[in-house]
Amino acid sequence: MTLPFGLPILRAMKQQPDIFTETFDVIVVGGGHAGCEAAAAAARMGARTILLTHRLDTIGEMSCNPAIGGLGKGHLVREIDALDGLMGRVADAGGIQFRMLNRRKGPAVRGLRAQADRALYRSAMQAALADVENLTIEAGAVDDLLLRDDAIVGVRLEDGREISGGRVILTTGTFLKGRIHIGEKSWPAGRMGEAPALGLSGRLYNLGLAMGRLKTGTPPRLDGRTIDWDSLESQPGDASPEAFSTLTTSVANPQIDCHITWTNTEGHDLIRRNLDRAPIYTGQIDGTGPRYCPSIEDKVVRFAERERHQIFLEPEGLDDHTIYPNGISTSLPEDVQLALLKTIPGLENAEMIQPGYAIEYDFVDPRELRPSLETRKLAGLYLAGQINGTTGYEEAAAQGLMAGLNAALAAVNGEAIILDRADGYIGVMIDDLVTKGTPEPYRMFTSRAEYRLLLRSDNADQRLTPLGLAIGCVGDIRRDKFKAKMARLDKARLFLETQSITPHEANAQGFTINEDGRRRNGMELLAFKDVSLERLRTLWPEVAGFAADIAAQLEIEAHYASYLSRQQSDIDAYRRDEALELPGDLNYDHVQGLSNEVREKLKNHFPATLGAAARIPGITPAALTILLAYVRRGKRRAVA
Ligand code: FAD
Repeated sequence: MTLPFGLPILRAMKQQPDIFTETFDVIVVGGGHAGCEAAAAAARMGARTILLTHRLDTIGEMSCNPAIGGLGKGHLVREIDALDGLMGRVADAGGIQFRMLNRRKGPAVRGLRAQADRALYRSAMQAALADVENLTIEAGAVDDLLLRDDAIVGVRLEDGREISGGRVILTTGTFLKGRIHIGEKSWPAGRMGEAPALGLSGRLYNLGLAMGRLKTGTPPRLDGRTIDWDSLESQPGDASPEAFSTLTTSVANPQIDCHITWTNTEGHDLIRRNLDRAPIYTGQIDGTGPRYCPSIEDKVVRFAERERHQIFLEPEGLDDHTIYPNGISTSLPEDVQLALLKTIPGLENAEMIQPGYAIEYDFVDPRELRPSLETRKLAGLYLAGQINGTTGYEEAAAQGLMAGLNAALAAVNGEAIILDRADGYIGVMIDDLVTKGTPEPYRMFTSRAEYRLLLRSDNADQRLTPLGLAIGCVGDIRRDKFKAKMARLDKARLFLETQSITPHEANAQGFTINEDGRRRNGMELLAFKDVSLERLRTLWPEVAGFAADIAAQLEIEAHYASYLSRQQSDIDAYRRDEALELPGDLNYDHVQGLSNEVREKLKNHFPATLGAAARIPGITPAALTILLAYVRRGKRRAVA
């Protein structure tokens, strides 16, 4: 990671701006997951920030499933929290069922997921934003960017108002030339019941940005009062829910059960008979959909051998009868959706509140972006969220956070803050996007992270909060809490490191240690497979005083010590390559010895570092050696 400068000037800008006469440092367009984090992050840094969005009441809206987190995504939420972002605490405030997924697997791949009450989530996000200093929030549809001498100077709203500011973050989600499809019907929309953004899309094309079309979908919403719950298997949450945010002391909302049902061959036959009315097969939809979150018609076609597909019935709120049937996203015609419900156990009499639909929208090829999320073609223009080809609230929020920090830093000519692949999942995602682009909606998985033993969700605060403190985006409450936790962790670790025992003494206490005469300290003893802190209490009763979070950290550190140090060596090697930056204006046509194919790839991707070049599919080790030599020669010449 690189540390920026210029922060004191930013922190000095603390007064509320007069919005129509003064210039803003940062203008954020969109009040979805990316926009909320971007606006809060920029304002936390001290930048005078305005968030402009269509409607104030939809700020924090969950367009699709009412849940935050999950595998890989839970890591992103914890990392956002570590940098004092909002999503973790808002999800804790809105959460009505918490489950730690993969609990029986290793700590690297566990993922916290919370089912959220849609209305509670939205109002918690709106309340959190209302508390942010330096932030103005206004309703309005942004129709165009204002440019002067090839520089961005603000935005124009549909009603003609102009707002000036030198850094603009677009987080427009699925709204850019959005188009909804349900069976044969299709109409322009940003989301159900909301207008699309047309002007902005045209402007981005005019800027010469490479753009494409993606699609996503959502299932029908059901009236829970018409579902036969007694016939269905229930799925409770965790008995002792764990929160996302280190600031949350306890989960306060009542916790609910979800239920499970399945599709069957009768429903699959019905879908097959109606494929000629399914927009994804009739050619009505061009955009590529999310491979890992396919519609039910897609699943029936692609996995023809499967006789059933699971459906989770998820309540959308504590005081809301709406049920989200997770697993049957569809854009089949409404009459087919209704007929499909009749074939599903427990849903035979279910009434549909809103049909499922698909939405197609424009996105910008993320290779148009620098790792700071600023566009290469127009300085001061940042993009974050679904507009960059990702899918999911967490992916959007994480990008919003980084774009907000970087736009605020740019306001004082500060250096951008870039997380790398060894800093966190945020770094992995942004590097994937800006280096490789994405042919389909990108979502996070733990398998995307090479260094996942070190990038665990349980240590996100230890990895990133110190950085947040250094750049000034972490508030006092989190700072004090983090420092107190680190002091407790260090004290407990030191205690274990300074206690020791011979194998003979340990074996006499029921441990199984090789009688090699070597004394082992508490951490070394804890590294043995069947040894827990619980067992160490018999040797050192003080261990009973360790808090649960501290004990869990120490057990992971000790059990995985040898793997962690091996992974640290891999990271050191990776960082050596990352340290070699490739100049932004490098003319690949002048680099002798590269094949035309490699040269074209490098020109398409413009990797920021030698490491990023190595991750572009098709870039050979030989090409990297040539690049390395060329850049070093250039540096020597520059020095001479
Ligand atoms: P959004 O949350 O869409 O927010 C965009 C914001 O920008 C809105 O507040 C909007 O009002 C505002 N805005 C847009 N244009 C303008 C403008 N010109 N002026 C002012 N304000 C503007 N994700 C999944 O992970 N899995 C799924 O299965 C899934 N299915 C989805 C199905 C549907 C139908 C939709 C709509 C989305 C789905 N998503 C899904 C995606 C998920 O909703 C997004 O990934 C996430 O919300 C993206 O966050 P964002 O902040 O980028 O955009």
